[in-house]
Amino acid sequence: MAHLTLKNINKIYPNGFHAVHDFNLEINRGEFIVFVGPSGCGKSTTLRMIAGLENISKGDFIIDGKRANEMGPRERGVAMVFQSYALYPQMSVYDNLAFGLTLQGVDEDVIDEKVKRAAKILGLTDYLDRMPRALSGGQRQRVAVGRAIIRKVEIFLMDEPLSNLDAKQRVTMRSEITQIHRETGATTIYVTHDQTEAMTMADRIVVMKDGYVQQIGTPRELYFDPVNVFVAGFIGEPPMNFLRGTVKDGALTFGQVCFDLTKKLGQDTAKYEGKEVVFGFRPEGIVLGEQAEAYRVPGTVELTEMLGDNTNVYVDIADRKAILKVDPHDTPEIDSDIVFSIPYENVYLFDGETEKRI
Ligand code: ATP
Repeated sequence: MAHLTLKNINKIYPNGFHAVHDFNLEINRGEFIVFVGPSGCGKSTTLRMIAGLENISKGDFIIDGKRANEMGPRERGVAMVFQSYALYPQMSVYDNLAFGLTLQGVDEDVIDEKVKRAAKILGLTDYLDRMPRALSGGQRQRVAVGRAIIRKVEIFLMDEPLSNLDAKQRVTMRSEITQIHRETGATTIYVTHDQTEAMTMADRIVVMKDGYVQQIGTPRELYFDPVNVFVAGFIGEPPMNFLRGTVKDGALTFGQVCFDLTKKLGQDTAKYEGKEVVFGFRPEGIVLGEQAEAYRVPGTVELTEMLGDNTNVYVDIADRKAILKVDPHDTPEIDSDIVFSIPYENVYLFDGETEKRI
C-alpha cells in the first residue's frame, strides 16, 4: 500500500498539446480512486504518468514521501491492467500468470503457490491448462487482472479494464475487482468513462473534462453536491434535467411554468435578475401530482420506457424536454397531460455564465 501525491501535474505532449492541467490529488494508502470523464479528457494520460509510461511535463509525483517523477515503472511498484488484455496467445493460463515471476527468476515452488492462489481468488482454478483462445472475454480479463495481482505491488492501475466485456460480465467483474481490492489492499487507480463503474467501485472519484479536474469527492458527494453543470450532468443515470432561462422578476418562466427562485435563493435572487440561470433537477427527484414546498410543473408525456423497477417518462415542458423516473405502477399514458412536483430541496441552480453551482 502506498500513499501518493500528485502536485500540479501537467502533461504537454511533444506536439504542444496541453492534455492535463494542474492535477492535484492526495491518495491515501489502500484507497480506490476512479478517474472518470468523457473521451479525451486526460484520464489515461494522467494514469500513464503515474505508471511511469509517460513523462511528467511539470509538477511533482510523490510516492510515500519520495519524489518519483524520474523513477521507472518497476521502481514505482506499480502493476497495470489495460483495456486490451494482452495475454500471450501461445501460453496456457498458468504460464500467462507465471510469466512475470519466471522472468524475475522466482523459485518454481513459490511461483506455483502464487499462481494457484491468484487463480483461486479469480475463479480460474479449472482453467489453468487452457489457452487464452479457449476462454470467454470475462475469463481472459480475469487472467489479465491475475497477472497484475500476482506480483505483490503497492499500486494497482487499471485503464478501462472492462470495456471489452458485455454488460453482464461487466457487472460481475465490477464486484470481483472491488473484492480483489479488499483482499490485496493495494492503492488502486481505475480509469473509466462509465459513471456507473465509478459510482459503484470508488472510495473517491475524480471527474475530469478537457484536461481539467472538475471535482473530487465520494460518490455520495458528487451525486448530492455537484459543483457545476458538467459534474451534475455526468453523474446519475438518466442524467439531471437542465432548464436554462433568464431571471425576470425573481423567477424563471417557461410558458405557463414559473419557478419562483426566491424559494431557493431568498434575498440573493436579486443578484441574478436579468442573468441566465440553469435550473436542474434529477429524474428521480420528483413526485407525481402536487405537493407542498415544491415547484409545480405541468407537462405532456411524449414517451415512456418501462424498465422493471421504474419507468422513465419523457415529458415536454413548454417545448423543453425532461426525463422523470417514476414507479412503474404510476406510469402515465403517452400524450397525457400530467402535473409533477419538484421539492425545493431537490432543485440545483447554476450560474448560466460560469456554469458553477449557485
Ligand atoms: P479515452 O477515454 O478516449 O481514452 P482519455 O480521457 O483517457 O480518453 P487521453 O488518452 O488521456 O484521454 O488523451 C487526452 C488528450 O491528449 C486527447 O485529446 C488526446 O488526443 C491527446 N493525446 C494523447 N496522446 C497524445 C500524444 N501522444 N500526442 C499528442 N496528443 C495526445
